[in-house]
Amino acid sequence: MTFTPHGKHLIAGQWLAGDETFNSDPAHGPAHAYSIGRVSDVNAACEAAEEAFWSFGYTSRADRAAFLNKIADEIEARADAITEIGTQETGLPEARLQGERGRTTGQIRLFAEHILKGDYLDTRHDQALPDRAPLPRPDLKMIQRPVGPIAVFGASNFPLAFSTAGGDTAAALAAGCPVVVKGHSAHPGTGEIIAEAVHAAIKACNLHPGVFSLIQGGNREVGAAVVQHPLIKAVGFTGSLAGGRALFDLCAQRPEPIPFFGELGSVNPMFILDNALNNRGTDIAAGWAGSLTMGAGQFCTNPGIAIVQAGEKGEAFVNAAQEALGAFGAQTMLTDGIASAYQSGQRRIAEIAGVQDVLTTMCDQRDATPYLYRTTAANWLENEVLAEEVFGPLGVIVTAENADEMQQIARSLQGQLTCTLHMDDADTEAAQRLMPVLERKAGRILANGFPTGVEVADAMVHGGPYPASTNFGATSVGTMSIRRFLRPVCYQNLPDALLPV
Ligand code: NAP
Repeated sequence: MTFTPHGKHLIAGQWLAGDETFNSDPAHGPAHAYSIGRVSDVNAACEAAEEAFWSFGYTSRADRAAFLNKIADEIEARADAITEIGTQETGLPEARLQGERGRTTGQIRLFAEHILKGDYLDTRHDQALPDRAPLPRPDLKMIQRPVGPIAVFGASNFPLAFSTAGGDTAAALAAGCPVVVKGHSAHPGTGEIIAEAVHAAIKACNLHPGVFSLIQGGNREVGAAVVQHPLIKAVGFTGSLAGGRALFDLCAQRPEPIPFFGELGSVNPMFILDNALNNRGTDIAAGWAGSLTMGAGQFCTNPGIAIVQAGEKGEAFVNAAQEALGAFGAQTMLTDGIASAYQSGQRRIAEIAGVQDVLTTMCDQRDATPYLYRTTAANWLENEVLAEEVFGPLGVIVTAENADEMQQIARSLQGQLTCTLHMDDADTEAAQRLMPVLERKAGRILANGFPTGVEVADAMVHGGPYPASTNFGATSVGTMSIRRFLRPVCYQNLPDALLPV
């Protein structure tokens, strides 16, 4: 093997072993032992991050951009080893890991470019008006400043792009905030090699070693300790609703509550409007099957629900989806726990009265096959469980009697990362009726596409009202995500010598 993990934490530039270890549970290849994180490790990492802030928080944008580019280079220098351990740990195919690595280094470099432009600082200046009556106006300047040490939690399904040096870490470092990563126990070796790349970049750029630490998991106490540490000033989290909510509550209960930016799950409904259904329902069904099964359905943007008009064309859609999904074989899921959660989610849906099986197969332990169910809009509206995320390749088709029922479904939705409209020109009026509702529900609205595949760009919003995320004003993907780790400071009548450079 190109890379043999040593299983230690990286704390302020030192690789440190703990007292106890846990074993990784790879989909294939050898398991390795990793140190279990302790509260003392959390304390050491947070104290070093605070110490590092006094220099790193005041580095120039050019220096931070150079650091980000160096991290991307160091990740690329370990490309093959990252793919090897990443595929072993997650069971994801090589091509997926390679693509995700490109996305990860691409977003790190995008942040380097973004901070060099400077407009993220959103500087404002109200000139002094000394002669204004009845009162003079002072000189007011405003700029965004980094908030301090950030805790980052990645998700199992994106071992690179939403993990150790993923979007949250890149955004925080770009802002000038040191990062303490709580490693994901589903991919600790991938976490270790990425931490090695960040560590090499810190040394090459001569930065304070406390700028980045990785504490391996192995127990839940370590995550709780990180978010409760008084020196942590905000948390970036990607993962499940249950985990995110537990940590969000801990942040809110702190003596000094801090923002918790949780990017959670979603069912990403697709509304297939009548003309699109009539003209190309079969094609949409085939496209849906591809999106639903991509990565064994383990995407937060997985489109789990399709809403169609009941009737002959709706039946044709059900048949086409059944046929297209039936053609997909079993895929390995990320962990045994996720595979068993998929099975219990499937049973939860199947047991609801009025839900019919369209496609059911037998899953074998960690291997998942697609499931397809159907129900009526009236039944869907009565059963909240049908609106909950099942993490995996499971689809539900909801047949609506008319446009009013579609509207009711839209109104009853919880917050979503995405909502999709499949529409032809002749559906414009129906789509216009849905739009005000969908805008209140989702962070991103798509037409005639599938929500899996999130572009990393300036205009991207990857977030949404709860439970899609815990902060509807934020995004975890794209350049605007840096705003989560900044806060505005106003400087009133301060001499230039005291202003930030
Ligand atoms: P997860 O089980 O919630 O784990 C995420 C991280 O949180 C892990 O480090 C985990 O620790 C920790 N954690 C979870 N519950 C905790 C608790 N009660 N106390 C302390 N730490 C806790 O999520 P996952 O299975 O990795 O990811 C799959 C989920 O993420 C899906 O629901 C998916 O939709 C969502 N997701 C969302 C996005 C998005 O951008 N919105 C992107 C990708 C995935 P351990 O290491 O100990 O497990």
